[in-house]
Amino acid sequence: MNRTIPWPALCRSTAHEMRALQDAQLAKRVRQELYPFSNHYRRVFDEAGVRPEDVRGVADLARLPFTTKQDLLAVQSDPERRLDFVLRPSPESIRAAWPLGKKLGLLFGGAPAREKLRRAYTPNFVTFTTGRSSDPVAFYYTPHDLELLSLVGARMLDVHGITDTAARILNLFPYAPHLAFWQTVFAGFETGRFMLSTGGGKVMGSAASIKVAERIQPTVIIGVPGFVYHVLREARERPANLSKVKLVILGAEKVTPGLKEKMAESLGACGAKDVTISGTYGFTEARMAMSECPASHAESPGYHLYPDLGVFEVIEPESGKVLGPGETGELVYTPLEGHGTALLRYRTGDVAVGGIRWDPCPYCKRNVPRIGSELKRSSEQKAMSLTKIKGTLVDLSAIGAFLSNLHEVEEWQVVLKKKNDDPYELDEFVLRVALRVGIESAYFESKIKKEMAEAVEVAPSRIEFKTTKEMLEVLGMETEMKEKRFLDLRPK
Ligand SMILES: [Zn+2]
Repeated sequence: MNRTIPWPALCRSTAHEMRALQDAQLAKRVRQELYPFSNHYRRVFDEAGVRPEDVRGVADLARLPFTTKQDLLAVQSDPERRLDFVLRPSPESIRAAWPLGKKLGLLFGGAPAREKLRRAYTPNFVTFTTGRSSDPVAFYYTPHDLELLSLVGARMLDVHGITDTAARILNLFPYAPHLAFWQTVFAGFETGRFMLSTGGGKVMGSAASIKVAERIQPTVIIGVPGFVYHVLREARERPANLSKVKLVILGAEKVTPGLKEKMAESLGACGAKDVTISGTYGFTEARMAMSECPASHAESPGYHLYPDLGVFEVIEPESGKVLGPGETGELVYTPLEGHGTALLRYRTGDVAVGGIRWDPCPYCKRNVPRIGSELKRSSEQKAMSLTKIKGTLVDLSAIGAFLSNLHEVEEWQVVLKKKNDDPYELDEFVLRVALRVGIESAYFESKIKKEMAEAVEVAPSRIEFKTTKEMLEVLGMETEMKEKRFLDLRPK
């Protein structure tokens, strides 16, 4: 890979240097890869009347249309266009697009040069998106991209402050063709850190995971918030000795201060003191996740970006207008590196509160830009987590964050159905909940109806109180790939 700036040096670069690097990388990527090798983007550029050499830097991106999830779904369901987002060089397109030196290297390099080209561009790995209501979208990786996945995996551990070579990592992500599991596995391989990947609830399960954790004494635990919390609660009940744990890394969902405190409490009961709990922000379409550096439970340093690997724009969701640093808006992502499935100006549907900051991180002092840790779903994009309940558009992920943040709640599930199961009746929002020991249900009921309506604009029609064991059953905590937090039983 031709990376000129190593990560530590990149973290010390000035904003000006990083932007110049992005401009140069983007211009080169469009000219030498995206336009010549992607059927989809060649069409997009031609239709927009933009020539590849017109893109000289990040500012020129605004001349091109956005790419949406709907674009990806449309291409995927058409056998003729299925691979239109995948970079597929041909002898003709290489001849037309590459500079002479690069072409000569290929021409005179013989079989090894051809093999290098094959490894750079031929997919050998795939992950899928995990949308709630749309078909999964495939994202292809080539051997070149797996090197990148290893690289960002190593950077992720670095930002989390895992510098101890004796670190032992317990990976609780579900074993699946999903980004989170694999980026974690590759991070372990790349850095040489010891890692046990249990495969999560469905593969090894919580009981066996705790048993083996007691034996390996992890210093780091990584996984999805719901399952990690479940494992820590079970560990506390035994109680298991997890006294070496210093850090918990959570992926895939928003993590609230309340949930962090509940986790830290459980870990405290297992002998682990002064634990740091950090979040990550990643999405299949970026083929990477970005991390928070260590901070206290109430603080969020923001997700540290890799400016050499991709550009984030922040836009006003309604107009598509590009916003400046620090302004709240939807994140739009353009990778600067990577083969296989390649995107440009991808609308994430995630609104970053406070946008992107370019000032040095007050916690770790790295200079790389950061995304504010508070993310919301944009209503412009048909975001999968947005749904109507009783006629009000609500954000399910905000409801989830509200519930998991509550100190009184052990486990919860949201059930959306029609009253009396009659399709012509009104929506019913049932909250199933297991309360923590000592919490009165009447107290909780009055608190929740008031506070929830204020926080997320909708309150449950009724609350079903259950034991933790019953909740684990309905959630499928040990039987499903991902626990079922939201059950929409309304007819489509
Ligand atoms: Zn930091």
